[in-house]
Amino acid sequence: MDEIILLKLGELVLKGLNRRSFEDKLIANARRRLKDLGKFRVYTKQSTMYVEPQEEHCDLEGAWTAMTRLFGVVGLSRARACNKTADAILETAKEYLGEKLQTAKTFKVESKRADKTFPMTSIQLSQYVGGELHDMYPHLQVDVHHPELTIHLEVRDYAAYVHADPEPGAGGLPVGIGGRAVSLLSGGIDSPVASWMIAKRGIALEMVHFFSYPYTSLEAKEKVLDLARLLTPWCGHMMVHVVPFTEIQEELRRSCPEELFTVLMRRFMMRIAERVAQRCDAGAIVTGESLGQVASQTMEAMRATTAVCSLPVLRPVVGMDKEEIVRVARKIGTFDTSILPYEDCCTVFTPRHPRLRPLPGELEAAEAALDIEGLVQAAVEHIERVRV
Ligand code: ATP
Ligand code: MG
Repeated sequence: MDEIILLKLGELVLKGLNRRSFEDKLIANARRRLKDLGKFRVYTKQSTMYVEPQEEHCDLEGAWTAMTRLFGVVGLSRARACNKTADAILETAKEYLGEKLQTAKTFKVESKRADKTFPMTSIQLSQYVGGELHDMYPHLQVDVHHPELTIHLEVRDYAAYVHADPEPGAGGLPVGIGGRAVSLLSGGIDSPVASWMIAKRGIALEMVHFFSYPYTSLEAKEKVLDLARLLTPWCGHMMVHVVPFTEIQEELRRSCPEELFTVLMRRFMMRIAERVAQRCDAGAIVTGESLGQVASQTMEAMRATTAVCSLPVLRPVVGMDKEEIVRVARKIGTFDTSILPYEDCCTVFTPRHPRLRPLPGELEAAEAALDIEGLVQAAVEHIERVRV
């Protein structure tokens, strides 16, 4: 109970965002992530968020892991609380940071004193604790400019805290502060990464998946739901809209030139995604497209798919190489699931010679034979919604 987590808040200081709403959102997101881990007190003070366990059986380890994935946090450290006397602080530093004190070669002590009734100044406290530690660990050199280990001491209203340097946090902005978007989630590597990148910018997501049963299996759908679940520690809980797509694909295959199939199919995806966006009040559509990766990812194809929707289409991985995307996928934990070998709806219907540069007029001509509104309506009406 005497160990707590300190989180350093991110970008708001730089961006002049409304601090109150940033902090409120961050606190609400943190509380939601901690809900099943025990009773915690969560509050902010001076650009720091405090997560304090309130019961003996709180899962602090789990809380730490959850907080490393909380967007809006740039750094986090564990701190040990102790009595507000110089000797208690020294004892705590020795005990709590003993291992670090043994392995580091250089160190310094930094103190902050919020409680002005504490009898020493910050400088006196740093000098006292630093001097005693130096005597106890003679191999340690003081280095005030680039120390390996910085020991932070804070004297606050109710207790004093001892902690070492923070570890890097997830960065970004608190999810939800920038509104909502719908993200097109396939079973591949790119779209989970694209979703994560947009969530990191403070956007809450709802997922849309196009499902082509029986061309793609129930296992393929489960895999997509698993990917969405893997994103929840970062993005929070979300709705996955599973759109039945088979009828549209079969209709396209019956009525349209094969070489345009992929782009025509993607135009339907965008139309349907926009309907979902309207319903959930989303301000943008996210995709995992990357320039030049496959035939449907040329500038002309992107123009043709963007043309059928009025919302902005965000493509955060558009300029990334596959290796760069894979690196993020590994880091966020989606890679191993993404590479599981299930068919996806695009590969099942891939034309032998896809047109790389469709002309806008050509697509409209091909679509003239279709009841676009009817097909979109039917798909939207039969959406299955799964909360993850
Ligand atoms: P990914 O690795 O994300 O599957 P990809 O390289 O396979 O991407 P495409 O198949 O051309 O590329 O798909 C481009 C984007 O279109 C995907 O990143 C995703 O956002 C969206 N998309 C493709 N198929 C589906 C699907 N079945 N359901 C939802 N979105 C899809
Ligand atoms: Mg794909």
